[in-house]
Amino acid sequence: MNSVRVRFAPSPTGPLHIGGVRTALYNYLFAKKHQGTFILRIEDTDQTRYVPGAEDYIQKALAWCKINIDEGPKQGGDYGPYRQSERKSLYKDYALTLVSKGKAYYSFDTAEELEQLRNDYEAKKETFIYNWHNRQQLNNSLALSEEQLQHKLDSGIPYVIRFKTPVDQELQLQDEIRGNITVNTSTLDDKVLFKSDGMPTYHLANIVDDHLMKITHVIRGEEWLPSLALHVLLYQAFEWKTPAFAHLPLILKPVGKGKLSKRDGDKLGFPVFPLEWIDPKTEHLSKGYKEDGYLADAVINMLAFLGWNPGTEQELFTMDEL
Ligand code: GLU
Repeated sequence: MNSVRVRFAPSPTGPLHIGGVRTALYNYLFAKKHQGTFILRIEDTDQTRYVPGAEDYIQKALAWCKINIDEGPKQGGDYGPYRQSERKSLYKDYALTLVSKGKAYYSFDTAEELEQLRNDYEAKKETFIYNWHNRQQLNNSLALSEEQLQHKLDSGIPYVIRFKTPVDQELQLQDEIRGNITVNTSTLDDKVLFKSDGMPTYHLANIVDDHLMKITHVIRGEEWLPSLALHVLLYQAFEWKTPAFAHLPLILKPVGKGKLSKRDGDKLGFPVFPLEWIDPKTEHLSKGYKEDGYLADAVINMLAFLGWNPGTEQELFTMDEL
């Protein structure tokens, strides 16, 4: 069997909160149990959501928790993260590969045109979805000859590349936690893979990197379960081996509804961040476990016990024991 390779792949859209630390920890422990490799990958292709300081915070928070990176570009003696922004020249070729295989297409619709369509549908009490149902009528390369397409591309008008979701395929998905899931592909939309700003979307960059980095197990939060069908379809379109997937249930608020979020710490009276965080926009200071006097070992044990019970009276485990 190939050796286990896992990654923690946060987007630097804010500080790492305790839910993210748990995802990193479960990846890390799984790698250690199997003498595998734990990678940190910063998914920073969406520059509009980039928060200065977040990436540095993520690295410092993982280091405080003793979650160490096993591979990556060297950073002062230690391994650092891979960054998608440093790999951006790579993704376009993969999007074009799918176009040449007939699995993706160029789409020239402007934001205003799509907005108009959404409004028209809403007026009819329907929802507009860019998919098999209407893709032939929209402003994309499906109805164009090769010359017409080349002419459009040469004229420099902006475009995105969309995935051509297969029609009416009963897709069998397998999640290590949820078990078998069946999705009919006709319910999915043709997601954008490559944006008009020359950057890949999360979906494309994530799949390409998991493949190139030989990730064997994708362990991530349950909020990504709805994207699993698209991701599996992308692996199929590229004819790549699919990794195993495990979507972790989210940490919820102790009271009220919904998942624990970055804003909850102050209200709940206990930190949601490992280290303190000063929001660069508002300069609001959120306290961290470290500054609040908690030991990293206590935080790690609390998180480990959220998903597992040793079945004994032992209350404190070292990282090695975990
Ligand atoms: N960049 C995604 C996030 O911020 C990662 C999802 C994944 O692990 O595939 O959560």
